[in-house]
Amino acid sequence: MKIKSVGIIGAGTMGNGIAQVCAVAGLDVVMIDINEAAIERGITNIKRSLDRLIKKETLTEAQKDLALQRIKGSTAYADLKGLSLVIEAATENQAIKEKILKQIDETVGKETIIATNTSSLSITQLAALNSSPERFIGMHFFNPPPLMALVEVIRGLQTSDQTHEAIIAMAKAIGKEPITVKNSPGFVVNRILLPMINEAFFVLAEGLASAEDIDAGMKLGCNQPIGPLALADLIGLDTCLAIMEVYFGNFNDSKYRPCPLLREMVAAGYLGRKTGRGVYHYDT
Ligand code: NAD
Repeated sequence: MKIKSVGIIGAGTMGNGIAQVCAVAGLDVVMIDINEAAIERGITNIKRSLDRLIKKETLTEAQKDLALQRIKGSTAYADLKGLSLVIEAATENQAIKEKILKQIDETVGKETIIATNTSSLSITQLAALNSSPERFIGMHFFNPPPLMALVEVIRGLQTSDQTHEAIIAMAKAIGKEPITVKNSPGFVVNRILLPMINEAFFVLAEGLASAEDIDAGMKLGCNQPIGPLALADLIGLDTCLAIMEVYFGNFNDSKYRPCPLLREMVAAGYLGRKTGRGVYHYDT
């Protein structure tokens, strides 16, 4: 099944980025959010992002105009009718997603594939809410979607081969490089990334090196573009802690225990860039 049109639920950070990628690749896009203001913000972000690509000479004015023409903003789920794929990219909250997935299920036909961009919720559990769980799948884009090549394609226990094949083909068609992953907390990339960040906090807490030297070590010795502690400040220390708690709770394995220093810093409100102070200090 070839995917020609896509509905995106949520016009936020990820939703508008995914809409942009799909529209530039030639797909018709319906981008849904709860009100006109949210849609307007999403469209404005897409325009800014397309302008940056024009400056970098990776996109022409004509391509920008065509991409924008392909995106329809809407607050009506009825506009999802007849689309080949709907990607849920709304707020990371189980109750909100359950409500949205129910609405999608009631609106689209059985031939529409339904995907979610969730970073942490169980694909198998979300699929079970669907009247045809075999057409449900995880499609985890990375931030910012127009620049990051990877899409993790997560199969729930119920996902059919047909759904999986269609999504792999679609991800490639929009210029992404998909990897296939079984449903599990954190999928693959965050499962590896977050324990490394947590370990960097243990190393800092043990006084083995300064924060600057830990980050310099991982940049220069492992070719990482940004050190793990600086990355934690970027992600948000509270988010890092929350993710480690999910692993610790789900796997019940002490190797995922959050570093006490990470806990202390979150308790102090040192959340990273967003609060002006995390491992490092920032001008707010
Ligand atoms: P965001 O807060 O920037 O945007 C969420 C949008 O969803 C908002 O515009 C909100 O109004 C909208 N929304 C809420 N309820 C809705 C509803 N009932 N119908 C339609 N729209 C609704 O969040 P985000 O960072 O774009 O994250 C979206 C999803 O992507 C989450 O599941 C998140 O875990 C995942 N994700 C985020 C990142 C990241 O770095 N931000 C990376 C990968 C995956």
